[in-house]
Amino acid sequence: MVIATDDLEVACPHCERAGEIEGKPCPACSGKGVILTAQGNTLLDFIQKHLNK
Ligand SMILES: [Zn+2]
Repeated sequence: MVIATDDLEVACPHCERAGEIEGKPCPACSGKGVILTAQGNTLLDFIQKHLNK
């Protein structure tokens, strides 16, 4: 695998992968616990562009 998962997403610095802060979804990562890197965003945009036909 040329692209590792860590290249695409990194642990959210606000909730540190918990996905929530004080019982509420983390606003920084929308509750995912991770945030996309620039490379992750590029890949996601590419896939969505071709999926949403
Ligand atoms: Zn977060």
